[in-house]
Amino acid sequence: MQRNVTNPNATPTPTPLGPAEPVRWSPRRAGEASAEPDVPLRAAVWRGLNNRCPHCGQGRVFAGYLRVAPECAACGFPLGEVRADDAPPYFTIFLVGHLLLPPVLWVERAYQPAMWIHMAVWLPLFAAAGTLLLRPVKGATVGLMHRLGFGRD
Ligand SMILES: [Zn+2]
Repeated sequence: MQRNVTNPNATPTPTPLGPAEPVRWSPRRAGEASAEPDVPLRAAVWRGLNNRCPHCGQGRVFAGYLRVAPECAACGFPLGEVRADDAPPYFTIFLVGHLLLPPVLWVERAYQPAMWIHMAVWLPLFAAAGTLLLRPVKGATVGLMHRLGFGRD
């Protein structure tokens, strides 16, 4: 990936977490200096986590619950070309497992409830946590992938 970080004509980099001026996205042409701002990694991930375009921070990432918009409504960045595929479910399962497994083990050790009680309590909790976390995790993954250069070429 080729990146021009010293382009004097580049659009100023938006502040990491605050509101930023929308930046009009334009495709990179061969031999042409990039006008894309270098969005800091943390800002790109944070914007995606909050359903904001990782490129400009204005438009929305999602056009449905989990469907990524084909392009940003504010800057035109082709969000639909950033294909997160299986990464968001993987990260979500990893996160939910690490959040809920310690309480499961603690309850089992402290109270030793019947298995049906475990199933009645933990299965809905795992399902709800996974469902609620999948969208922000997917947005953050799209932000991370944007920062790593996916969807620009
Ligand atoms: Zn945008």
